[in-house]
Amino acid sequence: MKRIYLDHAATTPVRPEVRMGILQYMETEFGNPSSLHDWGQHAHDAVEHARRQLLRALGAESPREIVFTGGGTESNNLAIQGAAKKRRHIGRHIITTQIEHPSVLETCRSLKESGFEVTELPVDENGLVRVQDVERALRPDTILISIMAANNEVGTIQPIAEIGRLLHDKHTLFHTDAVQFFGKVPFSVQDLHVDLLTIGGHKIGGPKGVGALYVRKGVRISPIVHGGGHERGMRPGTYNVPAIVGLGIAAELAAREAEETRERLTRLRDRLWRRIETEIGEVRLNGHPEQRLPNNLNLSFHRIEGQAVMLELNRMGVAVSSGSACSAGKHAPSHVLMAMGRSQDEAHQSVRISLGSTTPEEEIDLFVDRLKEVIAYLRSLIR
Ligand SMILES: *Cc1c(COP(=O)(O)O)cnc(C)c1O
Repeated sequence: MKRIYLDHAATTPVRPEVRMGILQYMETEFGNPSSLHDWGQHAHDAVEHARRQLLRALGAESPREIVFTGGGTESNNLAIQGAAKKRRHIGRHIITTQIEHPSVLETCRSLKESGFEVTELPVDENGLVRVQDVERALRPDTILISIMAANNEVGTIQPIAEIGRLLHDKHTLFHTDAVQFFGKVPFSVQDLHVDLLTIGGHKIGGPKGVGALYVRKGVRISPIVHGGGHERGMRPGTYNVPAIVGLGIAAELAAREAEETRERLTRLRDRLWRRIETEIGEVRLNGHPEQRLPNNLNLSFHRIEGQAVMLELNRMGVAVSSGSACSAGKHAPSHVLMAMGRSQDEAHQSVRISLGSTTPEEEIDLFVDRLKEVIAYLRSLIR
């Protein structure tokens, strides 16, 4: 049976171009970038090349604005903890939303123990943050706002540029988690008016365990791990050269292809949704109907557990996700769907289908055929 992977919001296959780059820096160019001999210098050059690839991919101004990290989770921690620590003498108030990835939400919550106050903004039934709510929550002691560019579960895209403009002449730092957004929608950090922006390698065809944080020129944050002077002291530790090389290649490709990816995936996703709506029915789309990632469909099939759909599809060689990957295993309902006002039952019915840039067109129809069979079977059990 042909296997179908539609869980690209959880992770993506490593692109062949990325694999080649990684191999080269594991096999022959294995030096430590901090060493002064040729081995070290070659590795150093590779890291700086990757930094410039990221600079261009994000539309940054200076290579110094790119900090390499150990992934999206670490970038979010560095942005939030680093900003909080550096600015605690200015104020102790942080604004975020109820639907953030746990690496943002739990980081903000942990800061409450050291005297910070956190406002978690609600969202509407489509998972959208209201700009007026941000405006109203702002205080003179607000040092940081962290709002994700696009949600990993339901795909809703937030009005980041609008919020960024609102903060333009304020001292409040603006961070966005763009792990899911990057590569699906073309953007630059200038258009978004953000000070800090997170990306991760493995959601864009790069390796796991590597990411980056964009830190706008002039913005100061404290390190969260201590050691040598790497990354201008913001993130010490010997560079993971192969992973950084891989991230650079993946980011360059993702940015270059973003417009094409958006158009293609929107077309495939819309066809998928039309077929599901008309041929399967009794299904609700979760997240914003238009303002959403082109690769994401989050659905609730009435009276059917998302977990059951996922497991049955898996038996037929298809990967999708029920709940977010991070909370799967735990049987707590998704905090995102709960924040959108869904009941616990509705939240348990959700299934996330996420396409990727490598998803071939013919997989869409093949997938719907299998999904039809699975839903018909599960419905037959409850009738
Ligand atoms: C996957 C993901 C993260 C975490 O990134 P890792 O590299 O897996 O640590 C953070 N935010 C969002 C929105 C994600 O989808």
